[in-house]
Amino acid sequence: MLTLETPVSALGPVAKRRSALLAELGLATVRDVLLHFPSRHENFQTGTPLAEIEPGTNVSVIAQVVSARSRPRFGRRMSISEATLTDGTAEIRAIWFNQPYRAKSLQEGASFRFSGKVTQSKFGVQLQNPQVEAVADLKDGNAIAGEDLLPVYPTTNGITQQTLRLVARLALPAASQLTDPLPENMRVRYALSSLADAVRQAHFPARAEDVAKARRRIGFDEMLRMQLSIGKMRRLRQARPAPKIPFDETATKSFVKGLPFTLTDDQRKAAWAVLSDMTTGFQMHRLLDGDVGSGKTVAAAIAMMNVARADYQSALMAPTEILAAQHFATLSRFFKRQPFTVAIWTQSYKRAVRGGREIVCKTKKEVELLGKEIADGEIAVVVGTHALVEDALKFNALALAVVDEQHRFGVRLRSLLVGKSGIPDVEPHLLSMTATPIPRSLALAMFGDLDLSLIKEKPKGRIEVETRLVLSKERAKAYEKVREEVAEGRQAFVVCPLIDPSDFMGAASVTEEYENLRKNELRGISLGMLHGKLSADEKEKVMADFLAKKIMVLVSTSVVEVGVDVPNASVMCIEGAERFGLSQLHQFRGRIGRGEHPSFCYLLPSMFSPNVKERMMAVVRHKDGFSLAEKDLQMRGPGDILGTAQSGFPEFLMAAFGDARLIADAKQAAEAILEEDPELERHEALRKDLKAAAERVHLE
Ligand code: ADP
Ligand code: MG
Repeated sequence: MLTLETPVSALGPVAKRRSALLAELGLATVRDVLLHFPSRHENFQTGTPLAEIEPGTNVSVIAQVVSARSRPRFGRRMSISEATLTDGTAEIRAIWFNQPYRAKSLQEGASFRFSGKVTQSKFGVQLQNPQVEAVADLKDGNAIAGEDLLPVYPTTNGITQQTLRLVARLALPAASQLTDPLPENMRVRYALSSLADAVRQAHFPARAEDVAKARRRIGFDEMLRMQLSIGKMRRLRQARPAPKIPFDETATKSFVKGLPFTLTDDQRKAAWAVLSDMTTGFQMHRLLDGDVGSGKTVAAAIAMMNVARADYQSALMAPTEILAAQHFATLSRFFKRQPFTVAIWTQSYKRAVRGGREIVCKTKKEVELLGKEIADGEIAVVVGTHALVEDALKFNALALAVVDEQHRFGVRLRSLLVGKSGIPDVEPHLLSMTATPIPRSLALAMFGDLDLSLIKEKPKGRIEVETRLVLSKERAKAYEKVREEVAEGRQAFVVCPLIDPSDFMGAASVTEEYENLRKNELRGISLGMLHGKLSADEKEKVMADFLAKKIMVLVSTSVVEVGVDVPNASVMCIEGAERFGLSQLHQFRGRIGRGEHPSFCYLLPSMFSPNVKERMMAVVRHKDGFSLAEKDLQMRGPGDILGTAQSGFPEFLMAAFGDARLIADAKQAAEAILEEDPELERHEALRKDLKAAAERVHLE
């Protein structure tokens, strides 16, 4: 009898032959197969039009062969087969490595389905090593797949989609044996399919509506699990004792008065929220979200100053040394007249500023002494990088941990910092900062266990950056502007997606662009190069030279994204702009327009498609990060906004992030469940699921 535990190898001859590969995909039993959901569904008659495919995605297209050939490469050891394909909307190239037989099977004029990864090469957009299915075979697939929607499974690991479809079909009768973790009343309240139905609808939808229903149900489950763990974490935190930091009103007022600018209302509100959180005696965990240049640092500084005045320590962890060094300089300036010491602790910088004098620790002994002063609590504010947690550094009484650009740190680093308070059994308050504006719905889903402060308002007198989309034929004009600005004494950034030239990507690289600009468009201008392969010393030298105007144009990778405050820079050219997310482009743009000079940002995509154009124009039109993030969410889903943070999330959860209604429903459901059953004692299936999911999903 077929049960959920039946091994895949018992599902028939094909499954048996493939069972080792299927097991590698995590598909060992019927249950695994049923819960291995397709990531997409495609109408087998059409597929994606070639004109609409985007590099970096996986697609399935139906196209006709225009020509095909195979040739050896690198002597006789490798071969390349290539074909030109068309579907009437566009013509593209497909290539296969080491499949010499491939060209022969692709008769000119015949149509096939090609499924695989879209890459960008110097020949344009291409399909790389796609799977090929004869269109006639698809008709058989159709017999399996209900009407005309074919499930397309995620990772395939050398197994064809047909095999996966077949295995899923054989496993399907066991769907009714799945226990539904959702109580009946909740399914009714939120109009959700039963789990068994959702599984059937996901694998073999009869119509598009079925796919939507399956997605909603499966997404709801994922989101509910996430909201339950977030809810539990929040409850735990709100009961966890943490140092009580009184609000020192006099000192705070005089500090604010001493600033060279007036705080914006949002800054004031954020600082106030942090200060009042820290008076409660329970752990604060607040996310400070504000555009680049919105002035988050000063809000953090006010908190740190109150902590220092209460005789506790605070630490600020930044993702790069450049940024840590900048924070150190800023805080030393802010705290010049304060009766406490500020230090920096990174791999290359170990310094302290005491009474306006900077002490650089060079010898091993001096470094040890600085470490000891931190351990003894003589230093109130310590700025650093991950070296703060990785080195054997100890704190005496760390009451506040500030994490800048928090998404750049893993959960592990942050919790290590929190674990270092030096006060037995007490964790410090946590202030996370991000310049990635996150739409409210998404913030609720992702960071629901945190309190949120948004800094939307820009400091007064900021200059708006004029942003333009530059077509390849106008490229010279953009660089002409760079020359003009440099002639006026201004400086410029050129951002490239890669460090070194790469054969297959076809995108601009720093080393190539540097040489190219030096010889051509920017001849005679002093250029510098900045990228992640340079050592900290080299980077520091380049940045110092840029600040000192010894370098006028800085050609760089995305390392300029964070930090880097050069008010004299007024132009930015972003090469290969389509390869960056909208929020990232907005971050780059935030590097200019920081002084009093009119500033210009040029987006120079290396390829155009309607989608690329729409995304670029969104950056041109939307000046503030929050509306751009909303736009990003609508256009590309949450992946682009969350950036690297997304990697661990299951497919359907990712989709659910884009659905504000689903998030609100799941959150409400989770709260209702936790309210009456905080330990999930009466929700056994959910409790088990949660445990399993906790191992997969990284929660903030
Ligand atoms: P971010 O939010 O990107 O970390 P910063 O804290 O680095 O921004 O602030 C950017 C710049 O704006 C700094 O030079 C800072 O001194 C300045 N600044 C901060 N707040 C204000 C304000 N209210 N008015 C004018 N300038 C401000
Ligand atoms: Mg900052």
